[in-house]
Amino acid sequence: MKIAGRAVIAGAVTTGMAVAGMVAALAAGVCAAAIPEQPLLREIAAAPDAAQLQATVQALVGFGTRHSLSDTASPKRGIGAARRWAQARFEQIGRDCGGCLSVVTPSQSVAGERVPKPADIVDVVAIQRGTTDPGRVIVLTGHIDSRVSDPMNVTADAPGADDDASGVAVVIETARILSGHKFPATIVYGVLSGEEQGLYGGKVLADYAKAQGWRVEVDLNNDIVGGTRGQNGVVDNTRLRLFSEGTRVVETAEEAKQRRFEGGEDDSASRNVARYAKAVAETYLPNWTVALVYRLDRFGRGGDHSAFNALGFPAVRFTENSEDYRHQHQDLRTQGGVEYGDTIAHVDFAYLAKVAATNALTAASMASAPPPPANVSISGAVTPDTQLSWSAAPGVPADSFRVHWRDTTAPVWTHSRDAGKSNSLTLANVPIDDFVFGVAAVSAEGFESPVVFPGAAGAFWAR
Ligand SMILES: [Zn+2]
Repeated sequence: MKIAGRAVIAGAVTTGMAVAGMVAALAAGVCAAAIPEQPLLREIAAAPDAAQLQATVQALVGFGTRHSLSDTASPKRGIGAARRWAQARFEQIGRDCGGCLSVVTPSQSVAGERVPKPADIVDVVAIQRGTTDPGRVIVLTGHIDSRVSDPMNVTADAPGADDDASGVAVVIETARILSGHKFPATIVYGVLSGEEQGLYGGKVLADYAKAQGWRVEVDLNNDIVGGTRGQNGVVDNTRLRLFSEGTRVVETAEEAKQRRFEGGEDDSASRNVARYAKAVAETYLPNWTVALVYRLDRFGRGGDHSAFNALGFPAVRFTENSEDYRHQHQDLRTQGGVEYGDTIAHVDFAYLAKVAATNALTAASMASAPPPPANVSISGAVTPDTQLSWSAAPGVPADSFRVHWRDTTAPVWTHSRDAGKSNSLTLANVPIDDFVFGVAAVSAEGFESPVVFPGAAGAFWAR
């Protein structure tokens, strides 16, 4: 079927849109954010290998502890050996792709509540340089460090299989898959340290990104992504949670005032990347839900993505649907008949492969698309119509643009209209009061960027 001049993929229109609503929308000549079928993404969706993921988690667990302050000299035990293993893995993947990865190890000396004496926090980072827009960067991260009950215990076995060897395995597997392809934008694969001591590794990489002048379009952070059996008895291998900030932490008082009058509480760039990841993953992965959670992170807890947010970069966090806290940050023991500890027995590698596919699809789609538009503005108060205008962001020019909108209470974009090559669009008889609007950039091949909400609230690029 053709709607508004482009093909609609049957599986895509179901995303975030009930059938009744879809029928109504089709009657109105509009449709959900249907994503054109891309053979590249179909191939990537099928590529993650549970055996590869298991091998990575097994190798990392084999280092005994990966506490950030543990042994750095031993070839077999501790954070140093684990980091060198990750570096060697990236270097091997780089050889396999003919030198497409460069590996760097940014570090900072830090001290803090859980780092009593200054210690070096070292990240292991592989960079797959973009072919035509290398300054635009898609980052994927997981943290390699682990801990037991006492966050200062640097010697006890701390397998950290789910928290967060699972996330590191996703990052390395995504590197293995995407390094077989070329993308306009740069993709950065980050294996972080120091998370359990105070979220240091995310800051190390975010600071490095800023110092390099990277235009970071997102950090896709993976932390605790391999479990499917919750402590509450829920077993679910079909859902992955995705956390995103609603308003930007770097918002100024002036920008907050503007947002109060114009909206944008649910439309930070981070949140629109989350919507994007959901749409792409659910288009290509059967029986799979990316469950958007409208908050920065789990209640009262934190993750490495927040360091990117703190510098104004979009960043989101993936976490499994059903956590079991008996298998996080625990001394290995059996107590009252209950087994405690973050061991590999509790990681579901078939599920983890879908998490890897979700990351690979999101990163590949974003890296293939043009940069999200800049300077998006909107007008239409006290008129029946809504006008949007925008400009192309630096980088490879977009082939066309597409305006999206949704009810103010809808969680994801439901309506869209192509704007062609124009830098503005008027939606006649679509009242600005009643919907939330945004615009995305589209490549000639049909790869679409995330949607950008107007003004500072939704901007991807620092002003
Ligand atoms: Zn963690």
